[in-house]
Amino acid sequence: RLAYVNGRLVPLADATVHIEDRGFQFADGVYEVAASLNGRMLDWPQHVARLGRSLRELSIAAPMSDAALSIVARRVLAANRIRDGLLYVQVTRGAARRDHPFPANTTPTLVMTARPFDFRVRVAQQKTGISVITHPEIRWQRRDIKSIALLPNVLAKQSAREAKAFEAWFVDADGTVTEGSSTNAWIVRKDGTIVTYPASENILHGVMRGTLLALAREHQIRVEEAPFTAADALDAAEAFLTSTTAPCLPIVSIDGNRIGDGTPGPVTARLAEALWSEVERQTGW
Ligand code: PMP
Repeated sequence: RLAYVNGRLVPLADATVHIEDRGFQFADGVYEVAASLNGRMLDWPQHVARLGRSLRELSIAAPMSDAALSIVARRVLAANRIRDGLLYVQVTRGAARRDHPFPANTTPTLVMTARPFDFRVRVAQQKTGISVITHPEIRWQRRDIKSIALLPNVLAKQSAREAKAFEAWFVDADGTVTEGSSTNAWIVRKDGTIVTYPASENILHGVMRGTLLALAREHQIRVEEAPFTAADALDAAEAFLTSTTAPCLPIVSIDGNRIGDGTPGPVTARLAEALWSEVERQTGW
């Protein structure tokens, strides 16, 4: 495997950054994960746009133009001979003597890696459904920035792993489900309306969330961007999650409580089908 580090493709094992990189010392950086299917990028412009926004919000200079970024992304995928896989892009504020304020005259660090990923695993999970647990919302208040500071997400995902669940849903002090540790959270109300937390500073604006919202509207499924509670989720007809790496997975249990009849529901199935059609339209997968 080859990695891109600050202008060069190097063997992954030899790919290194400075120990005074601000990503390493302060988690002062942002990232993206994008999917390649059938050798083509899915929703790539949205990922580039979100990366640009994350960088601007933190006043980190863009390491290169969007067009150049796209060329490097292609090179990294091609060099690793990846058709179905995931591209990881990380930009930090760069290396400088350790001191909290932004350093003057540092160049940002840009790193890209790619690995194969078999999306057929997700298609299989769509048929069986997955479980989630709830976890206290312990994150900061700018979750719209795709920051590499992921310790709360790591702890939540580990709790899920230990409970043999796929994902952990963050629940804030008033019982509201914001999102999962690496996915956006959805329910289908008994009247058929799909509900997901509003795009705000409180959640990451998932690319798959945006794609699914657009598809739902196209298919005349009623959509509400509104907060829902863990209790609402337990009372819902269906629940599901979305992300680049788990495009649309039905949730059949939350904290060990069955959702609906404990099997994937029809609205989620319809949305998943619409999503895979969109994937096929974009990539031919
Ligand atoms: N929420 C969080 C906290 C995430 O980390 C992710 C994935 N990076 C998502 C949602 C899903 O975003 P996307 O659909 O862009 O993969």
